[in-house]
Amino acid sequence: MPLRALYAIAMPGTRLGSWVRSLLETVNAGLPFEATARLLNHPLCGRFSSTGLPPEVWATARATHPDSIAAWGTLGVDLSILSWPATDRRDNWVQRLQNVLDTFQVRHRAARWAREAVAYYKLQESLVDLSQPEAEILTLERWGAEISQLLAMLTVPAAPGRGGVELHSPVSMMGTKYDHVFVLGMGEGMFPQPVSISFPGLINFKPSPPDSSPPRLPIPGPVEMAEREARAFWSLLQAAAGNLTLSYPLVVRRQEIIPSPFLVQLGCVGVAPETMPVASVEEARRVYLTSMGGNKGVEDSVIKSAYQAWRVEVRRESGALPDEYDGVVGLPLSVAQQKFSPSQLTNLGQCPFKWFAGRVLRLAELTEAETELSMSLRGRLYHRTLDIACKLVVGLNAEIKNELLTHLDAAFLKAEQVENLPPLPAWGARRQEHLATLRQTIQTPDFLPEGAAVLMTERRFEGEWYGLRVAGVIDRVDRTAEGLAIIDYKTSSQPPKGAKDGDDKPKFDIQLPLYMQLAETALFPGEKVAVAYYYSLTKGTILKKVELEEDALAQFANNVKVRLQTGQFPVQPDVEREACRYCPYDLVCRAGSRLNRK
Ligand code: SF4
Repeated sequence: MPLRALYAIAMPGTRLGSWVRSLLETVNAGLPFEATARLLNHPLCGRFSSTGLPPEVWATARATHPDSIAAWGTLGVDLSILSWPATDRRDNWVQRLQNVLDTFQVRHRAARWAREAVAYYKLQESLVDLSQPEAEILTLERWGAEISQLLAMLTVPAAPGRGGVELHSPVSMMGTKYDHVFVLGMGEGMFPQPVSISFPGLINFKPSPPDSSPPRLPIPGPVEMAEREARAFWSLLQAAAGNLTLSYPLVVRRQEIIPSPFLVQLGCVGVAPETMPVASVEEARRVYLTSMGGNKGVEDSVIKSAYQAWRVEVRRESGALPDEYDGVVGLPLSVAQQKFSPSQLTNLGQCPFKWFAGRVLRLAELTEAETELSMSLRGRLYHRTLDIACKLVVGLNAEIKNELLTHLDAAFLKAEQVENLPPLPAWGARRQEHLATLRQTIQTPDFLPEGAAVLMTERRFEGEWYGLRVAGVIDRVDRTAEGLAIIDYKTSSQPPKGAKDGDDKPKFDIQLPLYMQLAETALFPGEKVAVAYYYSLTKGTILKKVELEEDALAQFANNVKVRLQTGQFPVQPDVEREACRYCPYDLVCRAGSRLNRK
């Protein structure tokens, strides 16, 4: 049942009011990315499409964060209409605003809501007055302030329109007549409202001189206020020309409600409805969902799919084994066609659905422009710097660390360019700190032990591992007296999480054992890998050395093959949900307390 509420709300509370305000703030601030994006994606902006910026433009905008008219122009978004001068004539400012409203098709979009349409025409009327005196020169700031003041003064009906049920306060019903009047909230403490006395105006009240007559303030006392409520109720009763229905809720927030004293005075006795009427289509659907078995004939375009979705959710939340809506799709994948990186295998071993969502469903978060030195950007910067510097010492057997330190500054500079480092606040000083960290790290004994020499860095490889196709990049391989050393750099201070072990904890390392085995068989056949470890570039220490557990690795690879062949990728993280910590698929997999019931 449509509702009409004719009480007034201030223009800033409407979509149009908030859009115009945000337009002025955005232009005034020089089109910062986030504010401009909000403006362009606002429901009232029909310039590009019904849902704001087209998806492909939006994806690029998020990845690059354009913050000027020229930068938006490179994405094909012409915002020259927002190029406003610092000062202009008053009539020109009005015209500029009109041009933006026209270009962004705000009137057309506002027509979808009765209130916004009314707001649009009210604003138009007021702009005519605001354009006088035409030749007056205003700054952009002043113009923005005037528009804000104008919006604050304008009001529109909260829910205008035709037909439906009108909502009124009791006072506004005085002197009116309606065929049907429904009075809601006839409970004690609701109507009449408890009398409260609070007169902030008294704070500024200046008493009259002693010889004058006592001041007369139009302040109603408690008795007068109670009388007002009674009069309002009386006028309500008079407004009903046909039916009058008085009702009150039996319970509000678990508290029982008793009838209003007005009902008692009228001698009305409340009667609870035998069956509660269904108040909306949505409520009807909720009722049908639970009784769908016996109501298959319900005519509703939504209910059938809603029922199906509801059944899926009920099962998902139950203790039943995972089904196709929980990753067990039962569709086999070709083992031969999959190529795994070590991190993919680790993901699969941590939670099969995590791998399935990323690699098979190809779900991914939108690329976001880096505006700070994120953990991953810092990691890439450190890796790249050491790669560049270490390549320059390959083949050296002495003074390696000194050489590395000599090349470090230039390598860091090159890495900044290669990684396309965005402008970062106070980067001049901060980069010195990062360089100092790397310098310190290189000087630690574990970074390059005595007698070791760098053999190669950033070594790409492809090969076969227990019947699985694998590919990856080894950060660094050293030659030592005992054999090869494989090093994987980390910028964290903890060893990385592995696949689930026998205790369901993410401690079974896949990455380095895979590197070791591939190094001995494919990369350096005939050579022996003496050691493989994770090395923290920020702590300057070895985080973890790994051992080969060949039987367990073979079993793991076999499990991967079975999963692919049977299409089983259930939502099954480790027992402590470590795998979920930075997982981007939590909204899709609906992990939560339900997993404890599985
Ligand atoms: S959030 Fe947790 S349960 Fe969900 S997919 Fe990621 S790892 Fe698996």
